[in-house]
Amino acid sequence: MGAIELYRDGDHVNTLLDDATGIGLAVQANHHLIAHGKTGIILDPGGHKVFTQIFGDISNYLGGGELKYLFLSHQDPDIIAATNGWLMVTDADAYVSALWIRFVPHFGVDALVEDRLKPIPDEGMWLDLEGAQLMVLPAHFLHACGNFQIYDPIAKILYSGDLGASLGTDYREVPDFDSHVPYMEGFHQRYMVSNVAMKRWAKMVRQLDLEIIAPQHGALFRGEEMVNRFIDWCDGLPCGLDLNADVYQLPPKP
Ligand code: FE
Repeated sequence: MGAIELYRDGDHVNTLLDDATGIGLAVQANHHLIAHGKTGIILDPGGHKVFTQIFGDISNYLGGGELKYLFLSHQDPDIIAATNGWLMVTDADAYVSALWIRFVPHFGVDALVEDRLKPIPDEGMWLDLEGAQLMVLPAHFLHACGNFQIYDPIAKILYSGDLGASLGTDYREVPDFDSHVPYMEGFHQRYMVSNVAMKRWAKMVRQLDLEIIAPQHGALFRGEEMVNRFIDWCDGLPCGLDLNADVYQLPPKP
C-alpha cells in the first residue's frame, strides 16, 4: 500500500493510502486519513480485501492516536463493506447518509456496535476533530442519491468521493487536464445522474478555498488552475439522464 502525505502543518496531517492497482477485478481505490493531534478520521475505508492492511497503516500513521470517525461518502461496497470490522476494532463512530443507515447493516453490523453508525442529515454537517472542523457537504446524486463529500479547510482539500474518479492512469496527480479527460469521461457520463446536479455542485464548491480535489479512485487535482479546470468540466458535462433517457426500452427477444 503506497502512502503519500498530501498536507502537513504541525499536528495536522493528510495522508493518501493508495491500493495502487486494485485487487483482481476490484477497482483501484484511494483511502484518506486526516489526523489532527491525537485523533483521526478515515474516509471511505473500503472493503474486506484491504481492511487488514489499511487498519495496520492507520495505526502507524496515527502514532498511538485514536481513530475517531469513519466517513462513508455513500453506500457502495468499495466504501462500506468492511464497516463492521472497523467498528469492532476501533471506538470510532461511522457517519453515512441517513438514507443508507438501514441498508449498511445488511453487510453485517454487530448489534454491539450498531449504535455507532450515525446518520448524516441531507443538508450535511460538521465533524469536530479535536478542534479541527471538517465540513460534510451534500453531493447528492453524484452519484448516489444520499452522497456526501468532506472539505478540510486547514489543508484546503475537497475529498470528492466518486466525483473526479478516473480509471487506468499510472499517475497520482493529474499532469495535464485535457489528456486526463478520457480517463474519467465515460465513468461520469454513466454514473453521475444529471448535469443539473453537476451545475449545482459546481456553484457550491466554487465558494471554497481549494488547493486539492481528491477523488476516491485514480488521480487527484492539485493547484488552483487544475481544480478550476475540473469544476468547470463538471459544470458543463452532460451526463446520466441527459444522455441515457432512452434506455427505458424492453430488451429484444433472445
Ligand atoms: Fe460509488
